[in-house]
Amino acid sequence: MRPLCRFIRRPNHCTLRHVQRRLLLTLAIETSCDDTSVAVLEKHKNNSAALHFHSKITSDNRIYGGVHPIASHESHQQNLATLVEQALHSLPIKKRTSEHITEVLCLNGKDGMEFREKPDFITVTRGPGMRSSLNTGLDTAKGLAVAWQIPLLGVNHMQAHALTPRLVSALDAADAGEYKAAANDPAFPFLTLLVSGGHTMLVHSRSLCDHEILANTTDMAVGDMIDKTAREVLPQEHLNSASDVMYGKLLESFAFADQQLSHDYHPPSSFTRPRISQLSGSDWTINPPYCAPGPEGSITFADAFTFSGIGSSVKGIMDRHPEMDEIGRRVLARETMALAFEHLASRALFALQRPDIQDIRTLVVSGGVASNQFLKTILRENLDVKGYKNMKLVFPPPKFCTDNAAMIAWTGIEMFEAGWRTSLDAMAIKKWSIDQKAADGGILGADGWKSAAVGH
Ligand code: AMP
Ligand code: ZN
Repeated sequence: MRPLCRFIRRPNHCTLRHVQRRLLLTLAIETSCDDTSVAVLEKHKNNSAALHFHSKITSDNRIYGGVHPIASHESHQQNLATLVEQALHSLPIKKRTSEHITEVLCLNGKDGMEFREKPDFITVTRGPGMRSSLNTGLDTAKGLAVAWQIPLLGVNHMQAHALTPRLVSALDAADAGEYKAAANDPAFPFLTLLVSGGHTMLVHSRSLCDHEILANTTDMAVGDMIDKTAREVLPQEHLNSASDVMYGKLLESFAFADQQLSHDYHPPSSFTRPRISQLSGSDWTINPPYCAPGPEGSITFADAFTFSGIGSSVKGIMDRHPEMDEIGRRVLARETMALAFEHLASRALFALQRPDIQDIRTLVVSGGVASNQFLKTILRENLDVKGYKNMKLVFPPPKFCTDNAAMIAWTGIEMFEAGWRTSLDAMAIKKWSIDQKAADGGILGADGWKSAAVGH
């Protein structure tokens, strides 16, 4: 006899379809820097999410050796409309067209007319970023919102980086075919290290709009320093092989090419220990940032990162040793990354010891540099050795770590659900903190927010 419980052990397709039925659908645009990205994201009733479209074109800035504002702006102007056009054909198919006509988009498909679901709202990065780049996305988003008569959500790019792991868990829940309500994971509060080409900050996220910056860079971003180091240290033929200006990725593969990414790393007893190389032809010393006396470096600077000192030390070393051989260059690349990443670890550890930072179980590491495997090793090892073995380290997949429209879409959905909309006269914001204690009042300190109760 068949066990009766087989009917209750698994959801049937109707149940699955019911809980994974669409709750919200948004088309999102990201153009804050040199990436033009468009996404179509659907959130289901059970908190899982499906990414129907996600594409990105990065401006070719190689001849400039870094991000160039005019070239990036032109790349957005050239590519954004095409990506939006492609995205429209990935919107869910609308089967019934006679009713709910206002919810339908009629597109010119390959085989004639195509009926697609109209998004519930448009999400776009409003800031921070390069003004002309932001404006390309914002103006397009406003146009779509007006044409389709749907609300606009202009979101904060850094908030989106911080919320990325919640997007990833929602996508994973849908992939796993979950039918129960999926938890928003990680739940608040959590810590995030945002490590990108433009930012380095440690953020305490208490709720959707309540993010406190616990440490910020005082000079350059860690990704910027790593890119500059790569341009100094990498042999020319490696630099020539770069397909974009993400030199950090190249530096990592060069540094560990002889070790198949086995890092052989041991946490230092003190973060103030200078790095010394005695290889012939490349003898050098690099001091860690803030290497004041004391076991942890000066705690006075617990809220600050600095990377320019490491960067200029590397430049000085390469100026003195232009003929450095490949082995020497690999050692220098590894030690530079180790110093920078231990500096990141030191500020995370300071924060975890703060009496006002409680109940933190998750440290999220986001931004382009988060795809570095050596960074993962260094953070894990240092947390373990300092008594934080249970601290969960979350590294979103690289495609969601670098700038992308999926994280913008997710942020739009969370803000939309919280009742926020953006007025059509909202302007791009070049500098926009996520910390409500900042002079601009943080995310909700910007003008142009309106609550859903006022109408869309
Ligand atoms: P984002 O600003 O978030 O788009 O990230 C771009 C930055 O991440 C650039 O500075 C890249 O060089 C850096 N990056 C990307 N991949 C890696 C990697 N594997 N190791 C170190 N840095 C990286
Ligand atoms: Zn970013």
